[in-house]
Amino acid sequence: MEAAECVKVAVNIRPLITPELLNGCTDCITVVPKEPQVHIGSHTFTYDFVFGNAGLPCLEIYDHCCAPLVDALFKGYNATVLAYGQTGSGKTYTMGTNYSGDGANCGIIPKVMEDIFKRVGTTKDSTELLIRVSFIEIFKEEVFDLLDSNSSALLKNDGAVQAKHVALSRAPIQIRETASGGITLAGVTEAEVKTKEEMGSFLARGSLARATGSTNMNSQSSRSHAIFTITLEQKKISSCSSTMTEDAGEDILCAKLHLVDLAGSERAKRTGADGMRLKEGIHINKGLLALGNVISALGDERKRKEGGHVPYRDSKLTRLLQ
Ligand code: ADP
Ligand code: MG
Repeated sequence: MEAAECVKVAVNIRPLITPELLNGCTDCITVVPKEPQVHIGSHTFTYDFVFGNAGLPCLEIYDHCCAPLVDALFKGYNATVLAYGQTGSGKTYTMGTNYSGDGANCGIIPKVMEDIFKRVGTTKDSTELLIRVSFIEIFKEEVFDLLDSNSSALLKNDGAVQAKHVALSRAPIQIRETASGGITLAGVTEAEVKTKEEMGSFLARGSLARATGSTNMNSQSSRSHAIFTITLEQKKISSCSSTMTEDAGEDILCAKLHLVDLAGSERAKRTGADGMRLKEGIHINKGLLALGNVISALGDERKRKEGGHVPYRDSKLTRLLQ
C-alpha cells in the first residue's frame, strides 16, 4: 500500500432519528454532488468519502472502505477501522457493536464476519486457517476483557443486581510488550472460531457485557473505547512430509484487523456571545487526544521520512493499536 493511502477518512451521515424529528430538527449538513465534500453552515469539509446521503444503502461504506481491508487481512496486512464522532452520531450503529445476533444489524463488523467466512470457504486445502477474536473495552485508561468468562457466566444468571456486581468486580488487564516489540494483553480471552455464527456469538456476548456495564456506570459506553479484534493466521501445509520442517515458521502469515467503536468525541461546548468559542467540556478522553496526535504525526510526511517520533505511548488506545 502507498504510504499516502495509509489513513482514509469517510463520513457516514445518519438520518434524523425520531426524537430529533419530534423536536422539529432539520438536517444541517448538505453533500456536494459528486464530491466527497459537505457543507455545514458556511464551512466546507473534504474527506476521502462521504456516505449516508439520500437513503443510500447503509453498507456502501463497507464496500468502499472495509472490504479492501479484509482483502488485505488475507494477504497478511494489519488494519484498523475507527468510528469517531460524538455520542449519538451513529458509531455503534455503523460498527455493529451492539450486535444481538438476530440478523437485523447492518453494521460493519457483522459484514466483516460474513466476508471472512465467505473467503474461508474458498481457501485452498493446502492452507490451514486459524481465526481468533478478542473483544476489549478501554475505560478510564484501564483495559477490560468483554469476553471474560467470569463476567459472562454472571450475566447469564441475569438480573440488574448481578450486572452491577460484574461491572464493579471485573479486573483490568495489563498491557505487555514482547521481546520483539509487539504488544500483548496479559490473559485476555482469545477465542478460536470456526464459523461465522461462532464469531457472532462472541460479538454478541461482548456487546451485552458492554451494554450492561453502561447502564450501571453512568453511561460508561459513551466514554469507553470498544475494540473487537480478529486475528487471522494462515499456515501452508507441507504436502511431502508429515513431520514439522525446521522452516515451518516462515510459512505462517499472521495479521490482525481491529474494529474500534471509540468513546464519544464531545468534549467541547459552545459558549460565549459569539456562540463560536470552544470551551473544554467536563472531561477529555486521553485515548482520543493521543489518537489525534498519533494520526497527525503519521500524516506528517516530513516527520515520517525522518523517522520522527509518533507518540503511541501516550494512551492505552494508541499503544494497543500501534
Ligand atoms: P453512538 O454510538 O455514536 O453514540 P448510536 O450508534 O447509538 O450512536 O446511534 C444513535 C441513534 O441513531 C441510535 O438510535 C441509532 O439506531 C440511530 N442511528 C445511527 N446511525 C443510523 C443510520 N445510519 N441509520 C438509521 N439510524 C441510525
Ligand atoms: Mg455508542
